[in-house]
Amino acid sequence: MTADRNRITLWKILLSTFFPYLEDSYKIFHDIFNERSLFAELKRNHARDLSWERILTAINFGARIPDDYVNKIRDQILALSSALSVGSEDEKLGILKEHFLREMVAFWGSILIARETKNQRFISRLATFESKRFNSIMTLIIKDRDIFSAIAELEPGKGLSVLTLLTYIAKQLRLRVREFSYGNIQTRRAFGVHFLDYIECAPTRSGSWKLINKIIKEGYVLFSVPIASGIIDKESRDVIRLLESAVSITIKKKVEELISYENLDIPEWVTDMAIKALRYYESLVPKEALVDEGEKYWPPCMRAIIGEIRAGRSLPHQARFAITTFLHAIGWSEEEMLDLYRNFPDFDEEKARYQIKHITGQVSGKIYSVPSCETMLSYGYCFRGSDELNLCSSVKHPMQYYQRAIRILNKEINKRKKEQRPSKDRN
Ligand code: SF4
Repeated sequence: MTADRNRITLWKILLSTFFPYLEDSYKIFHDIFNERSLFAELKRNHARDLSWERILTAINFGARIPDDYVNKIRDQILALSSALSVGSEDEKLGILKEHFLREMVAFWGSILIARETKNQRFISRLATFESKRFNSIMTLIIKDRDIFSAIAELEPGKGLSVLTLLTYIAKQLRLRVREFSYGNIQTRRAFGVHFLDYIECAPTRSGSWKLINKIIKEGYVLFSVPIASGIIDKESRDVIRLLESAVSITIKKKVEELISYENLDIPEWVTDMAIKALRYYESLVPKEALVDEGEKYWPPCMRAIIGEIRAGRSLPHQARFAITTFLHAIGWSEEEMLDLYRNFPDFDEEKARYQIKHITGQVSGKIYSVPSCETMLSYGYCFRGSDELNLCSSVKHPMQYYQRAIRILNKEINKRKKEQRPSKDRN
């Protein structure tokens, strides 16, 4: 590689380090490690630990990327850019290569683990994590001038603008995009995404995302984006949100593609890790869903509804309404509910968020109550036949069931504690 070519590709290597699913990442790997194969790397000992760490992070975080995780990435980018500010081009490439390799191995190892689970919810969890992680890092890059300059420094051409960066990443995620001028305004340009890709990636079809509310030029949906970094307005956020969906779609496609290769020569550790990871993920689902008490103590109607949601089935409006009132009554947050509702085949974040806010009193101040047993029966969602605690016959309301069930649970816990206490304590 010539020095000049190194310089041109350094910023792309840096982006592929943090977003290893970009189209270029694979090409870059072959370009800079021409004597090595990624599969061979994944068979080396370090791959197991790196992949495990990545998959655990995905399971634990899901859609919620904590600020300190993003801050760590910020520190990493700044440390890397400072290390890259001195030395020869080959030395700089050497520094980046090491980080790039680690991220590629961790990411592709986690993809192989997800492939091996063949569990759609698990695969979705990984895709959600990677796409939300993408959103957080991209927001940081555009908002934080130091970070943006650190990346722009590595691009020796005519200067990296926010639009160039967004366009590059969108193309890397296989979106058809074009740049347009934005009238006479010199500080902004229009980012155009082909309307078919827009339809595929828009998080919702309502409100400001409706095509009818968009400016369309030559088949491209336009977003006005500031040229300079340091500003993150609604339009830039919307572009990042579109790219976030494209990341999620890309991850799912990659896993599906790998599932279709039945005789893939995967590293031995992957199968073990997949069993462990799936077990760990499933152990967390009840924790997420149960709050404190355990779903076992939920009324059968609500257990049936949540079971349907987790199975990815669509539900009538009344069932959605009932479960939202119930989850709110037992203390679930809006984000926790949204995470659950992502399982709906027709999930529309904006709409779901509005409905949750409406039902929980954040729109009009009116908090809707959990429907009574009689109403649940009329909805066709009374499942007293699967009542293991024999409480349905004596309650008129699912919350009454829940409160009685909790009392039974508390008695059981106290009894267990007494039984476990050493005998001298009891004397
Ligand atoms: S009787 Fe009430 S609590 Fe029991 S399943 Fe039917 S609606 Fe739910």
